[in-house]
Amino acid sequence: MSDKQYNIYSLFQARFPENTSAIFIETADGTEYSYAYLEQETARIAHFLTRQGLQKGDRIAVQVEKSPHVLFLYLACLRAGFIYLPLNTAYTKTEISYFLENAEPSIVVCRTESSQLFSEIKNKNLKHIFTLDLNEQSGLIKQSRSTAAEFETVACDTDDIAVILYTSGTTGRPKGAMITHGNLAANGIALQKAWGWQQGDVLLHALPIFHIHGLFVACHNVLLGGSKMLFLEKFDSKTVVQFLPKATVFMGVPTFYTRLLDEENFNRTTCQNMRLFISGSAPLLEQTFDDFQQRSGHTILERYGMTETGMNTSNPLQGKRIAGTVGLPLPGVEARIVDENNQIVKNNSVGILQVKGDNIFKGYWRMPEKTAEEFTEDHFFITGDMAQYNEQGYISIVGRNKDMVITGGYNVYPKEVELLLDETKGVKESAIIGLPHKDFGEAVTAIVVPDDMNNPPNVDKLKKLLKEQLASYKTPKKIIFIEKLPRNTMGKVQKNILRETYNALYK
Ligand code: AMP
Repeated sequence: MSDKQYNIYSLFQARFPENTSAIFIETADGTEYSYAYLEQETARIAHFLTRQGLQKGDRIAVQVEKSPHVLFLYLACLRAGFIYLPLNTAYTKTEISYFLENAEPSIVVCRTESSQLFSEIKNKNLKHIFTLDLNEQSGLIKQSRSTAAEFETVACDTDDIAVILYTSGTTGRPKGAMITHGNLAANGIALQKAWGWQQGDVLLHALPIFHIHGLFVACHNVLLGGSKMLFLEKFDSKTVVQFLPKATVFMGVPTFYTRLLDEENFNRTTCQNMRLFISGSAPLLEQTFDDFQQRSGHTILERYGMTETGMNTSNPLQGKRIAGTVGLPLPGVEARIVDENNQIVKNNSVGILQVKGDNIFKGYWRMPEKTAEEFTEDHFFITGDMAQYNEQGYISIVGRNKDMVITGGYNVYPKEVELLLDETKGVKESAIIGLPHKDFGEAVTAIVVPDDMNNPPNVDKLKKLLKEQLASYKTPKKIIFIEKLPRNTMGKVQKNILRETYNALYK
C-alpha cells in the first residue's frame, strides 16, 4: 500500500510525549537530551544537509563512533528524505571503497581520523566529507548550529528508501538492502505493540547503531513508545550491571547475556525495575536462557529477524516463552517453511523459511537479478534460514541454509549436533561445520570450546556419546578444541572463518 504523504519521522513525531521536555536520551555521564532537543537538533542538521545541494533520495554514508548525535543525524536524514547509509566502524579501506563505489553517496560523515582515508577513495558523486566526533563542539554538529531549529519534514512515499544497510554476506560481495519508510513503520508498530512499549519505559541501550538491532529495533521502539533511553557507548558488562537498576527494558545479542552471567554482582536486585530482556541476532543457548532465569528471575524473550526483513517472529510478552525457539510470526508477517519443491513441510520437519509482509525490504541496491533470486513467484522472501514449526506454532531456527553440511549425500543440520554437544559435561559451546573430504564430499566436523582448555573432554567418549543419540553420518568425524569461537560484532559465529581455517583437515 503506497502513501505519498508519508515519512517515518512524522510517525515518530506523532508519538512523542505531549510534554516534549521529557527525556529521550540520557548518557552514562548524565547528559540529558529531551524530545524537544531531538526536534530542534534534527531540524538543524536537516537544514544543513539540504543546503549542501542534495536531492531527495541522495545517500549519506556515515562511519562514526556511537553517540546521541549520530542518532540525531540519522533522524535528520529521514526528515529531509535522504538515504542513510550506516557503516560498521570496523570496516577497512578496501571494504569502504566498495561501499562508496556501489552506493555513490553525496556526503560522507566520518571520524576526523578517517577523513583523509575517505578523501583518497574515488567516488564521482561525493560532494562533501564532514566529521562527527564524540565531541559535539566540532565538525558537522557545530556547522549545523547556525541553521533554524524548525524544519518541515519532507513527504515521502511509503516505498521510498529510508536506509541502505549492507548485509555482512559471507560469500560474494556485500549487498545493500534497501529499507523503505513503509518497512520501518510496519515493523516498528508491530514490535511496539508486541512488546508493550510505552511512556515510562527506559531502555538500556548498549548495542552498536550501524545494524538493525541497535538502530531500528532498539531506537524505533523507544521513539514509538515516547520512552527514554540510557545510551551507553558500547556494551561493557560492569557498566550494564551498574545501569540496569535504572532501566525497564534491555536488548542484547546472546553474548551480552553470557557476559552478564559472568558478573558476580548481577542478581535479582540489579533487575528489580526490569520488565523485559530481549535477545536476538544470533541463537540464544538454552543453557543461557535457563541460567539467566535462575539468576535474575526473568525469562529472556527471544525474537528473530534479519537486515532484509526486520523482525519476523517473537516469543510473546504475555504467554509462554520457549527456550530454543524464536516464537510466533509477528502480526502482519506470514512465515512458511517449505521443502526444495516449495511445498509446506509438516510440523517438526526442517525446511526453508520464507516470509512475506510490509516489513520485507524493497530489494538489493542496483542488483535486480540478485533481488529476483531471493523472492518466490508469490513474493515470499527466501530468508536462507532453515527452520521448523512446533505444534503450538513456535518457530525454531536450525541454522543458515549455506551452513548445512551435506555428507555422503545426507543433510546434517548443524544445530541438531551442536545442541547435543552443548549439553555435554565439559563443553561450553560448539560449532558444527562441513569440511572438504574426498569420500564424503563434506565431513561433519565439531569445533568445541571446552569449559577448561587445559582439561578438555575425552574425544572418543564425546564421539561415543553422540553416536548413541545420532545417526552415524551426523556424528563428527573429528573434534577440534579451541579457546573461543570467532564471532562478529553482532555475536554471530563466523563459520566461514572456521571453514577457511580448517579447510585442509581431511586433505
Ligand atoms: P543480520 O541480517 O545481520 O541481522 O543477520 C540475520 C541472521 O541472523 C538471520 O538470517 C539468522 O540466521 C540470524 N538470527 C537472527 N536472530 C536469530 C535468532 N534469534 N536465532 C537464530 N538466528 C538468528
